[in-house]
Amino acid sequence: MTALYNRVALIGLGLIASSMAHAMKAEGLADEIVGFAKSAESRAAALELGFVDRVTETAAEAVHGADLVMLAVPVGAMEAIAAEIGPHLAPGCTVSDVGSVKQAVIAAVQPHMPEGVWFIPGHPIAGTEHSGPRSGFASLFRGRWWLLTPIAGTDPEATHRLRRRCEAMGAKVAEMVAGPPDLVLAVTSHTPHLIAYTMVGVADDLRRVTDSEVIQYSAAGFRDFTRIAASDPTMWRDVFLTNREATLDILGRFTEELFALQRAIRLGDGAHLHAYFTRTRAIRRGIIEAGQDTSAPDFGRGQTKDEVQET
Ligand code: NAP
Repeated sequence: MTALYNRVALIGLGLIASSMAHAMKAEGLADEIVGFAKSAESRAAALELGFVDRVTETAAEAVHGADLVMLAVPVGAMEAIAAEIGPHLAPGCTVSDVGSVKQAVIAAVQPHMPEGVWFIPGHPIAGTEHSGPRSGFASLFRGRWWLLTPIAGTDPEATHRLRRRCEAMGAKVAEMVAGPPDLVLAVTSHTPHLIAYTMVGVADDLRRVTDSEVIQYSAAGFRDFTRIAASDPTMWRDVFLTNREATLDILGRFTEELFALQRAIRLGDGAHLHAYFTRTRAIRRGIIEAGQDTSAPDFGRGQTKDEVQET
């Protein structure tokens, strides 16, 4: 494919950025990829792995002359980065992000975008519990949704080009306004992570994890929780701090449902439990039918880099 962008600047060189870079290189989507991350260690790793052509000492240098800038840092770091790069962005350049929360990122980034630069917020619904420059792989986005939430007045051609880039990396693109994704992601991603963190925390409180009983006899349910609860603490702290309203809304509903199930267990109401579990089983089938998972017993794990390389 001919390159869609001359120079792509990646700000942040972790799981999502390195996966984008691998995919863009595999598909020839950029003539040059320039990278910046906070630590010299990550910058060196990116160079060594070869998914960037060069790295810079600052974010401002990285965006110099870029026609696409991708912000792939934790949500809480977006504002400072936007303020730093704003004055150095080339006219006509597209800036996008991959942050897991949209409204907070728009509020943090948009005020720093100069006239004639298009900020098109985005979010790939793809990831693993791994982080850092060594965790990325080109197929991460294949078959996954990539949400774009263009702001009113954005050049349609800039949105179209960004969309083509996401699709060329294997993603399915949906365009929507910024509000709903935060609520949808609170249901499908953010609250489940919080529940996983809580469940693993409860097991740890029982002090049996370190005594190895829970680990040794861990059943699939608990193992899946531990995988999710191993996700990056900085990223997830920022998600809950910035998607507060939507997460609290869903957590409130979750708590009500939990109390109803608790009551059914206490009263021995098997019919309630059976009807509830039957309904949720149908949702799982719907996800598989929509092609967003497989029915394999190890679902999810096949997404990690190690697994991909093994197969
Ligand atoms: P990651 O692997 O932890 O990488 C984060 C990168 O950001 C690192 O390269 C880090 O640099 C850099 N960084 C952090 N603070 C910075 C700062 N102040 N200035 C410059 N660079 C900074 O994280 P990730 O999983 O790729 O997540 C990146 C973004 O994607 C987040 O906004 C997250 O919400 C979103 N996202 C993640 C997932 C997922 O499943 N992981 C899925 C969808 C979207 P160092 O390496 O030097 O620390």
